[in-house]
Amino acid sequence: MTTATLSIDLNAVAANWQALNEMTGCETGAVIKANAYGLGIDRVAPVLAAQGARKFFVAVAEEGVALRRVLGPGPAINVFAGHMPGDADMIRSAALTPMINSVDQLIAHVETLPGHRFGIQLNSGMNRLGMDPAEWSALRDIALAQNPTLIISHLACADEPNHPMNARQLKTFHDMTDGLNVPRSLAATGGILLGRDYHFDMTRPGIGLYGGLPFMDAQPVVTLDVPVIQVREVSTGHPVGYGCAWTAPRPSQVATIAAGYADGLIRALGNGATLTHEGRRLPVIGRVSMDLITVDVTSLAEVPEHLQLIGGHQSVDTVAGFAGTIGYEVLTALGARYDRVYVE
Ligand SMILES: *Cc1c(COP(=O)(O)O)cnc(C)c1O
Repeated sequence: MTTATLSIDLNAVAANWQALNEMTGCETGAVIKANAYGLGIDRVAPVLAAQGARKFFVAVAEEGVALRRVLGPGPAINVFAGHMPGDADMIRSAALTPMINSVDQLIAHVETLPGHRFGIQLNSGMNRLGMDPAEWSALRDIALAQNPTLIISHLACADEPNHPMNARQLKTFHDMTDGLNVPRSLAATGGILLGRDYHFDMTRPGIGLYGGLPFMDAQPVVTLDVPVIQVREVSTGHPVGYGCAWTAPRPSQVATIAAGYADGLIRALGNGATLTHEGRRLPVIGRVSMDLITVDVTSLAEVPEHLQLIGGHQSVDTVAGFAGTIGYEVLTALGARYDRVYVE
């Protein structure tokens, strides 16, 4: 078999949800947008439901429809994009809960689906989604009369505990929602780690469930093992790969492995990235190709069948660091070609 093996540890996902749940005294939801951060809603969502998650969050209504098929009736499926034109049938048939972001969305929602449940998303300072404070004060009584199930807002800088934006957004969220008697949610993974003041009635972790920072104590979820297709000797002064971007400084053993940027291993990984074998670090050399990466394996006495990119010796965030990006992007970019193996 020539496709890389992406192993996804569902027990670790369950343990991470429990660990994040234990940090709070409130309900813990689960964010499984983008196909559970690339790991697969079909397998991930039932595991979270079995742990006790009853409130799920997706980005758009289409994801909510797919998730409803997996979860069946019962759990709430909240949609961050709210109620967009053309969404009414999906929201109704899949019993989704749109997080209403504006006056226009509220009007569209109550006109097309009167009496259908919804939540409210407020802009407490990130200026991405949600109603601004002035818009909310104008609309508040009308919206509350329709019995929203939840009020949420999102923190811009929760991964930096000392950032002054956190306290500023917390105060704005209090100012906009105190005394309303509707369940509130402000914290994603980073917000959970900021402490109880940020937890309100429900948290919404995503990345921490999947083993990524800022949840430092997360159990690793993903292992990526890439088959070695060929190994060759390259003598001093000879190049490797496109653009001859690497030249052997000494007689070298070069392994060519079966994954590339078409599998989400972006070209920016080329400089300074490593793979591992039993903990030994092996440098990526030359450019990342569409389907292939070349690795300097000179230090190995024997070249194994697979080299590991992500796993116990190198986290998703370590690999993200090689490419100047974040774990979220590495996970959601993981390619469709991998053989996905679920450990449970
Ligand atoms: C993605 C997202 C989350 C989850 O964030 P993590 O940092 O992955 O925990 C929560 N709330 C909103 C609005 C989001 O967009």
